[in-house]
Amino acid sequence: MEKLDIIIRNARVVDGTGAPWFKADVGIFGDRIAAVGKIIEATALEQIDANGSYVSPGFIDSHTHDDVALLDDPQHVAKLLQGVTTVVVGNCSFSNYPSAGKEETFQHLASLLGEMKRNQMFVDFSSYRDRLNAAGIALNLVSLVGHGPLRLAVMGFARREATTGEIDQMCRLLGRQLHQGAHGLSFGLAYPPSAYAGRRELVRLAEVVKEYDRLLAAHIRSYGGELLESIQEFLDILKASGAKGLLSHLQVAGKPYWGMMPRALDLIDEARNEDVDVSVDMYPYPAGSSTILQLLPPSAQEGGIAALLSRLAFGAERERIRQLTESGAETGWESKIALIGWDQVRIGSASHPELKRFEGKTFWEAANLSGLSPFEFTLHAIRLDEGRTNIIMFQLSEEDLRVVHQYRLQMVGSDSIPRQGGKPHPRMFGSFPRVIGRLAMKQRLIPLEEAARRMTSLPAQRFQLLDPGIIRPGLIADLALFSDEFLDRATFEDPQLNPTGLEGLWVNGVRTVKLGEILAELPGSVITRQ
Ligand SMILES: [Zn+2]
Repeated sequence: MEKLDIIIRNARVVDGTGAPWFKADVGIFGDRIAAVGKIIEATALEQIDANGSYVSPGFIDSHTHDDVALLDDPQHVAKLLQGVTTVVVGNCSFSNYPSAGKEETFQHLASLLGEMKRNQMFVDFSSYRDRLNAAGIALNLVSLVGHGPLRLAVMGFARREATTGEIDQMCRLLGRQLHQGAHGLSFGLAYPPSAYAGRRELVRLAEVVKEYDRLLAAHIRSYGGELLESIQEFLDILKASGAKGLLSHLQVAGKPYWGMMPRALDLIDEARNEDVDVSVDMYPYPAGSSTILQLLPPSAQEGGIAALLSRLAFGAERERIRQLTESGAETGWESKIALIGWDQVRIGSASHPELKRFEGKTFWEAANLSGLSPFEFTLHAIRLDEGRTNIIMFQLSEEDLRVVHQYRLQMVGSDSIPRQGGKPHPRMFGSFPRVIGRLAMKQRLIPLEEAARRMTSLPAQRFQLLDPGIIRPGLIADLALFSDEFLDRATFEDPQLNPTGLEGLWVNGVRTVKLGEILAELPGSVITRQ
């Protein structure tokens, strides 16, 4: 009689391919799925009666900013309880390597991630990977290289096009990270200094991604009035370089533009018809989240935070930035405040104690409470927090969200920005059960199997992870066991609530969650691309 480690009996198997669920037992031996079907004969050290609950491949969170969170908290409970077994970090041009101890590079990442330490920056992918693997992590990690640190390493926070020599240096630095096993590159074309890059630099970097057969992700220049042009810019870069692409968190920001999603998807489908290999990711919420610096025009941020603050001291420059911030436009950038208003932007998490009392309040409310105008309050917060205040922007329509969640090439990416305390965006705590439990099982917006495919085999294929993403004998035993009650509870008012209904989670064959409780195991590792 065959002897297995674990048998999950009487499950409804959602195998990750999009095929209808089927009734079967799933056997695990070591770190592998050993058998799928009626495993009547086999015995096992542990037998679990799923009693009709679903077993699917563990979810791959295709877009996160969990880069530093896993160094602080290797368990990463918020993700485990959603059924996530792999996270992709290094998005939107932000990664914590390669960094040769440059202060600007640290400031760049900290503006998004807030609380982090200087020793959480790494000289290259290998040293980041080695630190995580040595300390142990509860789930698997895939890393992209951020464009920001590449540019900062070569030319600092300069607001100009790179020279040929500088581009060569960036390409070499990128090549080294990809050679070491990073899975791709991310642009952040709305985030300085990535936003300062011209087309030649972007295409050359994309060519390096193509050379190594990796993935190029992009936070595009605009998700508002210039959404279609910005999508086209990215598609043109993919076409010119031949690189495979991932358009990050596809959305239509700002009421005047709502309803544009079908046209955006048409552009992507047309490009695919012309042989451009591209897909998208998105999270299931009508608000976005970012750094407070996103409220200011890119031109104001030249030179980094210190330069920004000293520039703001001068009356004329301060007035110029105020006008731009509240009502202006620059190429590829339009005022977020003009688009959605101070009352639609909230303070999520702040670092400075004096700002803590404003967490969860709109900029309008915070300004009133402090007796300042909203713009003056913004500058005050940037100064106190060195640009590290996390904000939440209510800017999307439910209809556009529905359309992108029904798109076959959309992957679920939480875009989580882990912060300590405050009122962070609930997507960190609820994205996966929200799509499975709410959008698929309750609202029937998409079939359950299709929802699962977008968080398992589709991302596995896009990131070229050869192992996870499908339930099949011989593949890695990353598995989620969830019931009909699998549902998000996190809200914008109470964002840190964990979901219900996760009965089990296995990472590389080791159980990490049992009936909603975390087991103290660290079976994950950094996935290195060969
Ligand atoms: Zn982004």
